[in-house]
Amino acid sequence: MMLIPQGIMFGLAKGTTLVNDKWFSQIEAVSLVSALLLALATPSLLNEWLIGKPLEKMRYFCSKVKQGDYRERLALPNESRDRDDEDSITILMRDMNWMARQIELREQELKQAVETVRESRQHIEKQNQSLAETNAELMVIQGRLNERTTELENAFQKMQVMALTDPLTTIANRRCFFDTLEQQFAALVCNCRPISLVMIDVDRFKTINDTFGHEAGDRVLRELAGIIQKYSRENDLVARIGGEEFTVLLPGADSREAVVVARRIKTAVSSRIFELGDEQRISITVSIGICTLSQTPCFARNNLYNYADQALYHSKNNGRNSISVFDSTIRSVVKVS
Ligand code: GH3
Ligand code: MG
Ligand code: MG
Repeated sequence: MMLIPQGIMFGLAKGTTLVNDKWFSQIEAVSLVSALLLALATPSLLNEWLIGKPLEKMRYFCSKVKQGDYRERLALPNESRDRDDEDSITILMRDMNWMARQIELREQELKQAVETVRESRQHIEKQNQSLAETNAELMVIQGRLNERTTELENAFQKMQVMALTDPLTTIANRRCFFDTLEQQFAALVCNCRPISLVMIDVDRFKTINDTFGHEAGDRVLRELAGIIQKYSRENDLVARIGGEEFTVLLPGADSREAVVVARRIKTAVSSRIFELGDEQRISITVSIGICTLSQTPCFARNNLYNYADQALYHSKNNGRNSISVFDSTIRSVVKVS
């Protein structure tokens, strides 16, 4: 749209009136025509004159904004008190100033947000580093803890073995014997199978100690444990339950099988020559008591032990070096060899 200067507009308006009135002078007509011709011939000059400056300002303003300088403001021409009177250019310039202000504010907010994010990121990085360090320390502690746990587990296993082992002979001790007895009873109650106990006591063992010394007696006990172990069955439990008293627990074995094992042991012991050092050799004998229980009313853990002990006592009282069996059916002890 071509803009027409106010002066020319005035001339035109005035000219129109004069034409209508047919009272205008020739000079006025000439000046009006000249002005019209000038306006038509050189619109760019008028533009330059009337709005060129604001446009230049706006171009400059826009180039600043493009460069990211949002502080630039357009100086408004003819600041009017009544905004309704403002021309389009001034309104446009005011709007551009407003937009620049908004952009400036948003940019400031954005910069602030970026700074906050940067600070948060730095904080998080520091936290991460601290966590990584703590984690590394924890890994070291965890490693030590694992080592310590393994050591403790090994120590615990050793202690368990020690708790169930007789230190002199390295066979099962009294505690292991009674634990196993209980377990086997529970298992055999379900299986309806018999269980036998062979109880062995060295005859006149005190004399060995008194004659050859306690250490010699220990050697005899160690060797004796090996013999009993050797002549028992693979799954039988051989234990030392007292000074010179041993037991063989035979799960699933009836009386006949238990007597076979007891005879083997008795024969092996009596035929062994025990070397006590200093060319001293001795032979020993053992007394044995046996009890077998099957699924009868007297099938009880304590009965097995007590009846076997009764049978052993019977052997002791009947010349020693012998085997006696407690017959649970007649509830009586019988010497078998
Ligand atoms: P019996 O034929 O009546 O069984 O006579 P015994 O001498 O074998 O029985 P007694 O109960 O009178 O003696 C057992 C001995 O065993 C007494 C004790 O000093 C000895 N003794 C107990 N424990 C040990 C041990 O660990 N080592 C040694 N060397 N001797 C022990
Ligand atoms: Mg004895
Ligand atoms: Mg004894």
